This record gives sequence, structure tokens and C-alpha cells, in this order.
Amino acid sequence: MTAWQNSSTHSSPTGSQRKVALVTGSTSGIGLGIARALAAAGADIYLHGLGDPSSIKEVIAQLKGETGARIVHGGQDLSRAEAALEMVADAREQLGEIDILVNNAGIQHVAPVEDFPIEKWNMVLAINLTSAFAATQSVLPSMKARRFGRILNIASAHGLVASAHKSAYVASKHGLLGLTKVTALETARDGITCNAICPGWVKTPLVEKQIQAKAESLGISINEATAQLLGEKQPSQRFVTPDEIGQMAVFLSSSAASGMTGSIVSMDGGWTAQ
Ligand code: NAD
Repeated sequence: MTAWQNSSTHSSPTGSQRKVALVTGSTSGIGLGIARALAAAGADIYLHGLGDPSSIKEVIAQLKGETGARIVHGGQDLSRAEAALEMVADAREQLGEIDILVNNAGIQHVAPVEDFPIEKWNMVLAINLTSAFAATQSVLPSMKARRFGRILNIASAHGLVASAHKSAYVASKHGLLGLTKVTALETARDGITCNAICPGWVKTPLVEKQIQAKAESLGISINEATAQLLGEKQPSQRFVTPDEIGQMAVFLSSSAASGMTGSIVSMDGGWTAQ
């Protein structure tokens, strides 16, 4: 029994009644956790993202072995808005119409506002926000026609509150929550839901780089930098895991979550409760 047994399904090119999920930035970190959980719950996956081709091959083989899902990879560079359209077209051609779109790809750049390079600002906004808009725009007509769709935007605690030196990231994540709400309103009667997940600290390559930078700039160990990072923001004092976020994505994709749209789900160990 799959998590979405009671919601509408459609035939994939293989004739099976499985959902098709496109997860951007799923070659590592949170996106991979979401792809793994959706595949385990019975979805075929368009695994999208950059990275070393041999590691991606390994990830695909592992996911196939664990879940029996069809897994197809796309490596479109989402710093160009047209790449999101190419990605959706390729996913549709290879797996069929998209039932679940997870806009997860994201990058970070850290600098004070007055030193923030405009090209870095444009890059962060393009990958974290514009690509989600373009992908959403291109899946909506077929979701509306089939009267089923799940759109999940992976924002951040930084969609709700700010931290110094993260102007582009914080602006992009606040923007992504705005896009979530507008998409939810425009699709509220179409069998489509659009929700956002706002994780706190999750130990992924994106955050490992920030821990490393903190350790170097303060001349402290990685363990001390990790303790400081969690201590500053996350009352639980532990990382949220990609698997926990994956399970939430499965729930939000299920028929039990049909009444949730435009919601912002915090998974931040208490960060934004303060
Ligand atoms: P990650 O670095 O492990 O993964 C990022 C993914 O995005 C990778 O698959 C990468 O290939 C892809 N990507 C990066 N640039 C791209 C580009 N130009 N074109 C296409 N794909 C690109 O990071 P993560 O921590 O797993 O982050 C995933 C999402 O979760 C991001 O949107 C991030 O902002 C958000 N998030 C992360 C945390 C955290 O603590 N790690 C917290 C809150 C929100």
C-alpha cells in the first residue's frame, strides 16, 4: 500500500499506477532524502542536480535497489530559468506527467550587504527562487487538467526570520514562501496543493561548508564550530535529518494532506519559536 493509495494516480509509460515525482537538487542532502522517501512510498523519481557523474550513478543504483522505483537523472543548471522548463519537459518525456514537484535546489552565499557581489545575489535568487517559479509554471497546466498535483517548496527557517550576512538567501526564502501562498490560492479548487517546508539546520554539504568556514575564521575545531552553530539558533541542539524531511514530504503528498495548502511547516528544532 502506498502513502497516496486514495489519491488519483495515472499510468506511467510502463503502465504502472505510480506517482511521478520531480525533486530538484536531489543528488545530495535534503533533496536526496526526499527522493529516497518518495521512492520508498511508491513514486518514480526524476532525480535532478549537479555533481560527480560516478557518484550520481551510485546513488541511482542504490535508490533503485532499495525501492524498485524508476529513477531518471537530469543535470540541468537552474541558474538559467529556461533550464527549469527543459527539466520539466525531460522528466515528462522520460517518466510521464508530473504528480509531485519538489522545488528543493538551493545555494548559499555569505557576505555583508555592502560587500555582497551582485552576480552572487542574482545566482542565489535564480536558483533558490526563479527556478521554483519556472518549474511550477510549467507543471501547472497538466496538474490542473488531471485535477491532481502536489507542489512542495523547500524554504528554510530563513524564510521566516533572518540572519546577518545572508541577504540573498533570506530574500529568496522569504520570496519562496510568498510564491507558495500565491500558488496555493490560484490552485485551491483544482485538486492541487502547494506547501512549504522550512527546515532549520540539517547536516548536508551546504551546511558543512558553513561549519568549515566558521571553524577557519574563529580558529576553532569542527566540533566546536558545530556546537556553536546549533547553539546560536536551534534549541533542540541537534540537526534535523534529510530522512525526517523526506517523511514530511511523503505526508504532504498523501491524500491525508489534501486539506493542507498554502501551509508553512517548520522543522527547525524550535529555531523560529524563539
Ligand atoms: P546540498 O548542497 O546538499 O544540495 C543542493 C542541491 O542543489 C544539490 O543537488 C545541487 O546539485 C543542487 N544545485 C545547486 N546548484 C544548482 C544549480 N545551479 N543547478 C541545479 N542544481 C543545483 O544542500 P541542502 O542543504 O540539501 O539544501 C537543499 C535545500 O534545502 C536548499 O534549498 C536549502 O536552501 C534548503 N535548506 C537547507 C538547510 C540546511 O541546513 N542544510 C536548512 C534549510 C533549508
